[in-house]
Amino acid sequence: MLLSVETSSTDAAVGRSRYDIARDCVHCGLCLQVCPTYVHLGSEADSPRGRIYLMRAHDEGRQEVTAALREHLDLCLVCRACETACPSGVQFGSMMEEFRAQLRPSWPAPTTWRSRLQRALGRWALVQLLPQPSRLRMVVGLLRAYQVSGVAALARRSGLLRALRLEATEALAPRVAPASKRRPPPPLLLAHGRRRARVLWLRGCVAPELVPEAQDASIEALRHNGCEVVTPPGQTCCGALHFHTGFHAEGMVLLERNLRAFDPRDADAIVVNAAGCGSTLKEYARLGHDVDGDTAQAARFAAAVRDISEFLDDLGLEPPRGSVRARVAYDEPCHLLHGQGISAAPQRILGAIPALTPVPLPHADRCCGSAGIYNVQHPVLAAEILADKIRCIAQSGADTVATGNPGCILQIRSGLRRAAVANPGLAGIRVVHPMQLLAASYTS
Ligand code: SF4
Ligand code: SF4
Repeated sequence: MLLSVETSSTDAAVGRSRYDIARDCVHCGLCLQVCPTYVHLGSEADSPRGRIYLMRAHDEGRQEVTAALREHLDLCLVCRACETACPSGVQFGSMMEEFRAQLRPSWPAPTTWRSRLQRALGRWALVQLLPQPSRLRMVVGLLRAYQVSGVAALARRSGLLRALRLEATEALAPRVAPASKRRPPPPLLLAHGRRRARVLWLRGCVAPELVPEAQDASIEALRHNGCEVVTPPGQTCCGALHFHTGFHAEGMVLLERNLRAFDPRDADAIVVNAAGCGSTLKEYARLGHDVDGDTAQAARFAAAVRDISEFLDDLGLEPPRGSVRARVAYDEPCHLLHGQGISAAPQRILGAIPALTPVPLPHADRCCGSAGIYNVQHPVLAAEILADKIRCIAQSGADTVATGNPGCILQIRSGLRRAAVANPGLAGIRVVHPMQLLAASYTS
């Protein structure tokens, strides 16, 4: 089932300017009610239409770069719900990424020590931490030590976290699994039974450290579907967070490393289980790049990328036979639904699992407020958006939430933990990747 990838570099490089994209907007306002920031803040400048107006005004020389402009554009989650709603096909995500990249160096300096610290930490995490697996492992290990040694409990009891106004940030931190459960996969894992495909596995950066169970289950699901799973050495973070937050040059360094690490001609697909990463990897063609004189490489790479649910659905799912008794609400990750247009495949996979009962989740297509590092940069608004999601989950009556993006898994887990203080019934709700339920069926 080798992919036929015949895209030229010219195709990959084709891109329209931000100004041209902004002119596609006909100001109809159909995007307003799907925009989480507009719904919560109610101001036009925090809506897609308002942000497009501001960017266009800037490009026409009618709008200075001010702290207010920065705030309105910074508050965007780049969830891309507005793209799905837009009848004119305005490509809002790429426009926002380009605008942030252009203006980031000239952003006004933060005025408080907290925002200065937040900005410095954010930059350090993006540039120094995410692309360095050994550093990331060390930081995650320290977080684990903090959580299990009693220091966390002491910091909470003593009031230190409250005094430093770090309670909300600390509550976001995921429970870290022991090091023995966070091992990278071997370079090659053979298919269980007859080989049907050979896939290149994209590990990602944070996900295998913070949600290792999703990675292990995804690889098992692939092997049960006859896939040989190769994890190429030398791969790195996909750069999604860098591109979203205006660190374009840093993102391109990562893109180039991944283009060198993966040769899609060597496999049937590049498979990824994180919606946010998959969405960016599929955009490598738009971002474009020549490596070692090969101008078609980015296009070839992007054309080979598949979300794991999309890949297994296309391959033809090996019927799962084991029962998984659970009432499962499926939550749509923004970068799967809006970024990649994938909604039916993961739900078809869940529906194929014996004894699993899908339950409708109100507003399943709305953002959970995770959006990369948004929940760290804008904790108050992210918490409000998350609270809506938790209310919907509580209404659904589900005992399990399935969602195909590690960031969403962590965000919803954190919201349920906090909400369970007032409503203990929520404490028993599991949040998992759909592949965990599929793998459980194959192995039960
Ligand atoms: S990307 Fe999301 S948050 Fe940003 S303007 Fe569009 S709908 Fe609103
Ligand atoms: S839906 Fe599209 S065309 Fe209408 S206001 Fe929003 S961005 Fe503009």
